[in-house]
Amino acid sequence: EGLRALLLGRIRDVADHPAPGVVFKDITPLLADPAAFSALTEALAELCRKHGATKVVGLEARGFILAAPAAERAGLGFIPVRKAGKLPGATLSQAYDLEYGSAEIEIHAEDLSADDRVLVIDDVLATGGTAEASLRLIRRAGAQVVGLAVLLEIGFLAGRDRVLTALEGAPFEALITV
Ligand code: IMP
Repeated sequence: EGLRALLLGRIRDVADHPAPGVVFKDITPLLADPAAFSALTEALAELCRKHGATKVVGLEARGFILAAPAAERAGLGFIPVRKAGKLPGATLSQAYDLEYGSAEIEIHAEDLSADDRVLVIDDVLATGGTAEASLRLIRRAGAQVVGLAVLLEIGFLAGRDRVLTALEGAPFEALITV
């Protein structure tokens, strides 16, 4: 419970960002605080150990900031899921719907193999669309998903229901739910 309070106390609400009526959860104060950032990194590394992950996938862009140090701390490799057009090698792509329009994410397929056990990490779960698409991508690459971990789950958007279906029994871990 100390961890939750430490982390939540350093997440800031920003009204009307990026659009009027939206309350944006800003994690930059947490990242700027060495004690909170270290506690977050250790908590995520512990989830890697708990679920027997062999690789960590981070989602562009804030997911990278959390997933990369957690992977390193757990002694694991890090693999980025990027927005379409950024990765230079052979990619797998997954399109998904946004509130207005659609988006596409990609992964370097050669970075995953059939015996990999993947923990996916992102900063915030909102509608769950991004996380759901990333889970599909990892399975299409032939690897096993052992869980999805986020710093903050925004409860009222019901992203959890969506990702639980996509996780097919693998665990969803939110360090904080608001
Ligand atoms: P979703 O696909 O609707 O779950 O949106 C999740 C993606 O949007 C994540 O990659 C988050 O980084 C980002 N996101 C959505 N809402 C917020 C927020 O309030 N703060 C920070 N990131 C957010």
